[in-house]
Amino acid sequence: MIKKQIAILGSTGSIGTQALQVIEEHPDKYEAYILTANNRVEELIAQARKFMPEAVVIANESKYPRLKEALADLPIKVYAGEEALCQIVAEKPVDMVLTAMVGYAGLKPTINAIRARKTIALANKETLVVAGELINDLARMNRTSILPVDSEHSAVFQCLAGENGNAIEKVILTASGGPFRTFTHEQLKTVTKEQALHHPNWEMGAKITIDSASMMNKGFEVIEAKWLFGVRPDQIEVVVHPQSVIHSMVQFEDGAVKAQLGMPDMRLPIQYAFSYPDRLHASFPRLDFTKCTELTFEQPDTTRFRNLALAYEALHRSGNMPCIVNAANEVCVAAFLHDRISFLGMSDVIEKTMERVSFISKPTYEDYVATDAEARRVAESVING
Ligand code: NAD
Ligand code: MG
Repeated sequence: MIKKQIAILGSTGSIGTQALQVIEEHPDKYEAYILTANNRVEELIAQARKFMPEAVVIANESKYPRLKEALADLPIKVYAGEEALCQIVAEKPVDMVLTAMVGYAGLKPTINAIRARKTIALANKETLVVAGELINDLARMNRTSILPVDSEHSAVFQCLAGENGNAIEKVILTASGGPFRTFTHEQLKTVTKEQALHHPNWEMGAKITIDSASMMNKGFEVIEAKWLFGVRPDQIEVVVHPQSVIHSMVQFEDGAVKAQLGMPDMRLPIQYAFSYPDRLHASFPRLDFTKCTELTFEQPDTTRFRNLALAYEALHRSGNMPCIVNAANEVCVAAFLHDRISFLGMSDVIEKTMERVSFISKPTYEDYVATDAEARRVAESVING
């Protein structure tokens, strides 16, 4: 049987390491063809020695000598730098690219992978937030599929299986509400990064964990849903569901609602993207309904969690506005993690950046690159006062 050759961008991260666990469970079906990381060279070396990919790439070029030396006894190609990372996805034997790196950095390699007609397993939601229309156009032109890895979108995707041509009335994205779900505005003023980094239900990388605490993550997921499922903003609803048992739902035009339920374990959506349209056996823990005796739902509060409102606004204004919000948010999250800005201060900076960066209604790729750079500059200057 021919094994699917997978390139994992960001193999040392939370999604990347879980993807490798999925590959380990199905060695007859999948092979890690390329592994890449940003900084964590020792983890990348250990992964390479274990999974024996064709090639590895470390984005941070200063780590290249260490990587090269540590893998010298093996027939693994070793590359470094952003450009190498963007190019390697086009390697002929690659069947699928899992985009599991963080932030705007995912955009260019994803574009290159689509141009090379690779199937995309998309974890890097920022790519669709920044340039959803461009990515969809490219995917259509190159006849490639973009399969969601984000748990909510995987849930929607699973609900849509077998519903070809049936109109969607509403996509309902569930949100855990994060660690500050019950905090008052007053309490939110003084929350620390340590508190924000402690998510109640999911273990994820630092950036998405902060985004989850501020609900920017859910805002991004609304934008992601628009581009993945072709629905209008008013057809995308967010409902807070603290138990994270229902991963998301679809309401059809006859009023029927389908939901996908499961343990909060990213290996399931990763595996589904790998195996789609098939399902494979998984050894992961199962949901025990005698233990989830309470499933509750609340409306999200966009007054306390202004980022969610800002993301909706960006979606309505469209053009390069979501790209502006993404760049400002990346700057804010980094600043918050370095104690340079308060939790609530993040929304102020994002809002001011949205006001100050030039709006472009039909951006090209070059416009996105320029917008990202300008928005970062503006957000930095707002933070520095
Ligand atoms: P993480 O911080 O744990 O890992 C990020 C990985 O990307 C690491 O391997 C890192 O080396 C690499 N990386 C980071 N910046 C890079 C850059 N500039 N160039 C090249 N490589 C870079 O992050 P994560 O939690 O695994 O999230 C990855 C992506 O998946 C994000 O876009 C996130 O929103 C999305 N996602 C994550 C989860 C989750 O459960 N962790 C769920 C849904 C979606
Ligand atoms: Mg999600």
